[in-house]
Amino acid sequence: MLPYGRQWIDEADIEAVTEVLSSDWLTTGPWVRDFEQAIARQAHVEHAVSCTSGTAALHIAYAAAGLGPGDEVVTTPMTYVATASGAMHHGATIVFADIEADTGNIDPAAVEAAMTDRTKVVAGVDYAGQPVDADRLNEIAHRAGALTLQDAAHSIGSTYKGRPVGSLSDLTTYSFFPTKNMTTAEGGAIVTDDAALALRADEFHKIGVSRDRSSYRHPDEGAWWYEVPAIGLNYRLSDVHAALGLSQLGKLADFKARRAERFARYQEGLAGIDGLRLPTVRDWADPTWHLYPVRVLGGRRREVFDKLREAGIGVQVNYIPVYWHPVFEDLGYRRGMCPNAEQFYSEEISLPMFAHLELSDQDRVIDTLRSILGA
Ligand SMILES: *Cc1c(COP(=O)(O)O)cnc(C)c1O
Repeated sequence: MLPYGRQWIDEADIEAVTEVLSSDWLTTGPWVRDFEQAIARQAHVEHAVSCTSGTAALHIAYAAAGLGPGDEVVTTPMTYVATASGAMHHGATIVFADIEADTGNIDPAAVEAAMTDRTKVVAGVDYAGQPVDADRLNEIAHRAGALTLQDAAHSIGSTYKGRPVGSLSDLTTYSFFPTKNMTTAEGGAIVTDDAALALRADEFHKIGVSRDRSSYRHPDEGAWWYEVPAIGLNYRLSDVHAALGLSQLGKLADFKARRAERFARYQEGLAGIDGLRLPTVRDWADPTWHLYPVRVLGGRRREVFDKLREAGIGVQVNYIPVYWHPVFEDLGYRRGMCPNAEQFYSEEISLPMFAHLELSDQDRVIDTLRSILGA
């Protein structure tokens, strides 16, 4: 089965990882430090905290934002469940705002309508790699005293109005799962320009331990002393994973160019087919395309999906609206809340998209889809 996404690992990646395995410490050492610095530099921000997954990154970012019971997070239903669940772990309430019908990204007008005096975070997702309208989301959130969080699991390397993803919101999170734009096997990161948010993120992902002597409640103890001002979890990335990430990050520009080439070939090869809608790109977006999401009109999504799978093409659906999951149904969320997201879901299929997708395989995907749709 041709996968919908997969990593690209070369000899340099393997050597980088092997080198760490013969080092002294294996975790939270020089590779983690170097990887975090490189991730911050790539995003044009001051601070990066690496961690064990994109899911962990969201949990950590919401902790840094100080989220707790009674607080509300306004987010999109067109995402992986972690964008919402990371906030629910802190006892916050999720308010879903509908998406733009064309891009699949959260609609700033819907966010504005969902804001209350309890809104603490507005969390957008760069669907398929295309950045959210960050300027408008910042304006809406900051006017209400809330923070913006950008779930950039799809979009490391993308730019918005010429500025890199990572520099656009108060907090940005990445995932380095193998299908994403670059990988550490499992891994993630939080980037921010705000030193206080970065410090809280760092402490939360290191069990809650503070090593900032100037903030100690009991500063006169010995050199062994440290304090736990608030509890956290062990979400530390290892040096082994960080070495892979550092090596992969050096290839991100190449990965982006290869994905862009494949995106353009799909746009051209699938143009003008009745019953098929192709992705829309905003003129201010220069995405690293994580997904190539098409929409099958006329109620034929299931049939087309099954036929592509039968032809050995490993398509996916991104995403089931988050509030359709039983855990949300049990909390009283009902279908019909976000009609654009539900319509988008009912039509969407993600075609294979990865940096080293063979062009001959891509041609087979295009031809197969064309013939299923009678084009
Ligand atoms: C992949 C993904 C996550 C979670 O990342 P993991 O590294 O798999 O935990 C969160 N949000 C979105 C939008 C994702 O695509």
